[in-house]
Amino acid sequence: MREIQLYNTLSGKKEKFEPLDPSHVKLYACGVTVYDDCHIGHAMQAIYFDVIRSYLEYIGYKVTYVRNYTDVDDKIIKRSQDRGITPKALVDEIIASSERDMQGLGVRPATHEPRVSESIPEIIDIIKDLEKNGYAYSTSEGDVYYRVRKKADYGKLSNRKTEELQSGTRDLVKGDKEDELDFALWKKDDVEGASWDSPWGRGRPGWHIECSAMAKMYLGKSFDIHGGGRDLVFPHHENEIAQSEAANSCAYSTYWMHSGLLTINKTKMSKSLGNQILTSKFLQRFPGEVLRLAYLQNHYTSNVDFSEQVFRSAAQRLLYFYETMRELDIIAQAVTGPVALLSDHKPKDLIEAFHREMTNDFGTVGALRDILIAFRKANELRKGKKSPAQAHTAQAYTEVFRELFGVFGMLQAAPESFIQSLKSKIVSDLGIEESKIESLIADRKAARDAKDWARGDELRKELTEMGIELMDGPEGTRWTILWKEEV
Ligand SMILES: [Zn+2]
Repeated sequence: MREIQLYNTLSGKKEKFEPLDPSHVKLYACGVTVYDDCHIGHAMQAIYFDVIRSYLEYIGYKVTYVRNYTDVDDKIIKRSQDRGITPKALVDEIIASSERDMQGLGVRPATHEPRVSESIPEIIDIIKDLEKNGYAYSTSEGDVYYRVRKKADYGKLSNRKTEELQSGTRDLVKGDKEDELDFALWKKDDVEGASWDSPWGRGRPGWHIECSAMAKMYLGKSFDIHGGGRDLVFPHHENEIAQSEAANSCAYSTYWMHSGLLTINKTKMSKSLGNQILTSKFLQRFPGEVLRLAYLQNHYTSNVDFSEQVFRSAAQRLLYFYETMRELDIIAQAVTGPVALLSDHKPKDLIEAFHREMTNDFGTVGALRDILIAFRKANELRKGKKSPAQAHTAQAYTEVFRELFGVFGMLQAAPESFIQSLKSKIVSDLGIEESKIESLIADRKAARDAKDWARGDELRKELTEMGIELMDGPEGTRWTILWKEEV
């Protein structure tokens, strides 16, 4: 197994990755609160952890991946009441829509996708353990709190000290809550469809305890990697650690991996600002691989800023990848020699470079850079003379490209139909009518057939100015979108 170095938020440095079971990685990532359709910010974490999981599998680990749905929440209750439906009906609708989005993005389902509403007995059990160990107490109001100050190392993930967390006003402590720092494990409530009986009366779980319970249900008391967006470090993940360690009397997750945050044109994305991009809307414009590429061009820990330019450029780069694959497939079809020969032709350097980047904290930026260089090299084959050796090399490249891009969840579609659909989407996004392109190409052909070369060149220039590039070949003229590589 290759050795991976990964940045652990808990220690604040890169560490050698050593799973508790040497061949089996257990990974938990916090899922979405299902009250509204998922936007491309939600897609960010889903895509990064999908790739991290795929790479771990690619190098030989078995991976058990848990991503939960938070389906018990104030916002869900409010939204379902506003719409006059049950919380369950709203949740089912949003989960179905989220599953469609994930499928469109090529994000595979997790091994387990538990819902809070289906994990209530386990949540109650873990609160009982906390109570038994002296870390939880109930109030006469029917709420249960976590006793933050009892946990000496509370704050170790987010580097906060309990003294600094005090706001200084004791007025905030209502009823018989002991300390303003204490957070809720169980809240008294009797909303229909979103409350349950418990030893402390009817109510529902607090947010943090859900993840502690669901991680334990599927991964055990201690597991390898806990992931999420950086905005979850405090208080959510800090509180998860506090709860799980106090309830289970052992370490919780060994490694904590946090993805960066997304801005659109340097502004935080929010519904109220009107700059929110729903995943479903994005997928109407471009295939999911465009968003995957746009994200993977950044390191998962980086903050990412998107703009229209980023999306267009990712779409064009993806088109370049697929068009190259199509051409290589055509060259490779001339392969006649024995298949056994092929293995020697694998571009081993590229595979090694890919691993070098990916084992260094999942360095997708460098991996993509190396792949792009190899694509340029492979493209040179199109100029060479046709020969069995050239065909073998082309085949070796396509095999490696498909294999490595498989880790990124990209480039697995058959090129021709993907190219047609992507091209249509890009030109329509640029506001160009496809029929206009076709008619200019027909005009140019007519001019050239009549040996009016000047007119032919004029028409080609007109297309170039529209951003369309022509390629004349034995099977006629094909067009693609002009792309100036910014490397
Ligand atoms: Zn969580």
